[in-house]
Amino acid sequence: MLREETGADHAFRMDARVWLAQNLDPSLRDLPGRPDPERMLNWCRRLHAKGWLVPHWPRAYGGSELTPVQQLILYEEQARAGVPEISLQGINHIGPILIRFGSEDQKRRHLPPILDGKVIWCQGYSEPGAGSDLAGLRTRAVVDGDHLVINGSKIWTTWGHYAHWMFALVRTSAPELRRNAITFVLIDMASPGITRRPIKTIAGEDELAEIFFDNVRVPIENVVLGIGQGWAVATELLNEERLRGSNPSFALKALWRLRRLAAYTGIDRDLGVRDRLAALEIEAEAVSASYLDLMETVDDSNVASADSSFIKIIGTEVTQRITEAMQELAGPLAAVEHSVPYDGRQVDFSGLPLQARRLSILGGTNEIQRSLIASRVLQLPRGGTRA
Ligand SMILES: Cc1cc2nc3c(=O)[nH]c(=O)nc-3n(C[C@H](O)[C@H](O)[C@H](O)COP(=O)(O)OP(=O)(O)OC[C@H]3O[C@@H](n4cnc5c(N)ncnc54)[C@H](O)[C@@H]3O)c2cc1C
Repeated sequence: MLREETGADHAFRMDARVWLAQNLDPSLRDLPGRPDPERMLNWCRRLHAKGWLVPHWPRAYGGSELTPVQQLILYEEQARAGVPEISLQGINHIGPILIRFGSEDQKRRHLPPILDGKVIWCQGYSEPGAGSDLAGLRTRAVVDGDHLVINGSKIWTTWGHYAHWMFALVRTSAPELRRNAITFVLIDMASPGITRRPIKTIAGEDELAEIFFDNVRVPIENVVLGIGQGWAVATELLNEERLRGSNPSFALKALWRLRRLAAYTGIDRDLGVRDRLAALEIEAEAVSASYLDLMETVDDSNVASADSSFIKIIGTEVTQRITEAMQELAGPLAAVEHSVPYDGRQVDFSGLPLQARRLSILGGTNEIQRSLIASRVLQLPRGGTRA
């Protein structure tokens, strides 16, 4: 962290460092991908017992309301310790959205199982013809008594094949109404009529899934905010997703691995390599500082779209630059699929660079984020027109 730490913040950092050293099972350290669902949920339960699973949630809902500086320290210490990647759809996406928009029943039913590490959520936004243009989604839901009946499909659903619940966007009215016809609904993935098909990523993992809905009946009480009101919820969730998902942990984790790779291969004796590492460290620090600045200025009830777009672009692109350097500097070793032990830790040559390719696509591609900044902040004319 660039800022000078107060005594209390330093004590918090040391507590985090010691706790992680004592509680993070070595088999969970430095994984190139995610652990299996059961081990991941176990780790979530441990984090929650310490108050660090949802440090950003209000205390009233089981969070610990850590300050932005403390949250940043946690990201830094977790990256240093090599904690595993966890499924964020419950803790960063639907949790805060239900706190803001959910009914009392929805909060009572869905928030505690997220904290207790009992449930995995997935996000059903994208469809084969609706990714960047979400308003074009075609999965339909028709009201039948006190249920919605859903037909259609979703794609690129992270951990959709493991998830217990999905939050989804469905079309509840005529396509010409576009946004006002979209409803945000919570779907129990055990419902009859749901088929899931895993999709392998470039990193060779079953990270994604395609989901098919064939007359799936969902109680109307699972609709958030109201039928046809889904767009407001959906965009708010996307802002949260971009903001939280762009925290510096991935960049910092990559940086620690790059340092270990450089030491393992001995290339850090080369002055040119050292320069390159130093430049990347400065970039990662800049992401941390920008993230902290944003977290301190953003009003929790209103994450601006331009802010979340900005941090998403810089966070993901710096991470990709670090992992690209990792691949280049590894040379032929970049073709080695498995990590190797070094200095009590693992050095990973290819996993992380492949994992990082996805970051500039998910949550809305960086091209789209640039367009949003161009139109909403810079107020540039739209394509084809000249001022
Ligand atoms: C690893 C991973 C995990 C994901 N997880 C989820 C998930 O859990 N749930 C979910 O719902 N979705 C998920 N997604 C999907 C993701 O949100 C979409 O892939 C993304 O929004 C882009 O949509 P698309 O794939 O349809 O690409 P398209 O929208 O077809 O875009 C293709 C290319 O064209 C560019 N493009 C499109 N329109 C414009 C424009 N107007 N101006 C400039 N360029 C443009 C895009 O930037 C992109 O480069 C995930 C994706 C990945 C890669």
